[in-house]
Amino acid sequence: AKSGPARGWALFDDELGDALRERALLAAELRDAVHCNTLLPFFQPILKIETGELIGFEVLARWQRGDKGFVAPDVFIPLAEELGLIDRLSDQLLRRCCAAMASWDPKLSISFNLSPRQLNHAGLAKRIGRILDEAGIPGSRLAIEITETAVFIDMDRARQVISELRALGVRVSLDDFGIGTSSLAVLSQLPFDTIKIDRSFISDIEHNPQNAKIVRGVLALARSLELTVTAEGIESDEDLAFLKTNNCVQGQGYFFSRPVPEDALPQLVDDVARA
Ligand code: C2E
Ligand code: CA
Ligand code: CA
Ligand code: CA
Repeated sequence: AKSGPARGWALFDDELGDALRERALLAAELRDAVHCNTLLPFFQPILKIETGELIGFEVLARWQRGDKGFVAPDVFIPLAEELGLIDRLSDQLLRRCCAAMASWDPKLSISFNLSPRQLNHAGLAKRIGRILDEAGIPGSRLAIEITETAVFIDMDRARQVISELRALGVRVSLDDFGIGTSSLAVLSQLPFDTIKIDRSFISDIEHNPQNAKIVRGVLALARSLELTVTAEGIESDEDLAFLKTNNCVQGQGYFFSRPVPEDALPQLVDDVARA
């Protein structure tokens, strides 16, 4: 078999070359999508676990890439960050959500993800405040979800941004709780309203006694810190029963609904009310 540089370059041309071309294409199409404001918010219901009452939705970004189907946010959000498009994309999505919310029951709120780097961008709270104002949506109908990794970049900065958001009446959630590294330090230093237990602890809770203990511990911790808990990744009635027994306040997951587009919301709201 051939070896050495000759073969190396052939590999570069064929495989790495293809990968780079595909990435460049993806980047160009994402630029277009943001330019034309075609990214969509999908909505996954968040319910009160004790009563089954709908309290709102987590917003999850979706990109329909021509006839290639939906691209997952795990792919295009990091790319949008690299391309410097994330603030624009995020503002567009939030504007769309606020427009949608104007026709909802005012008791319903949204929970909106921000990327790590956005926390460090100047004027974040001001931009969010302006979008809310323009749409006539009170800050109390918005929660912002921030992952643990995000808040580590600069604690002082994070504390300031979170305080600015809370001054607008916006609640702030610590996302993916449990899979980062210094959750407890973060909880002691930053003024969160809610923690979201990562779905890796919830989805297999009926088969995994260790995870069951961890989740009970997190719920006890949250109670003593007077934080609300949202459990992600509720996939079965066993998952739900466990959380109900252990007094978890709110939850979301495929058991209730996958994320759905805006036009599916009236039906979803109806179904939840009937369930
Ligand atoms: P995340 O914030 O942890 O969101 C929850 C993810 O779990 C979503 O994946 C959701 O569709 C999925 N999920 C919900 N319930 C279940 C369940 O019962 N079982 C399983 N297996 N999965 C469930 P999705 O929509 O692919 O989003 C992936 C990640 O992309 C999100 O993770 C979030 O970090 C990021 N993301 C999504 N939208 C945005 C956005 O608008 N801005 C930013 N910065 N990040 C976003
Ligand atoms: Ca989230
Ligand atoms: Ca998660
Ligand atoms: Ca399960």
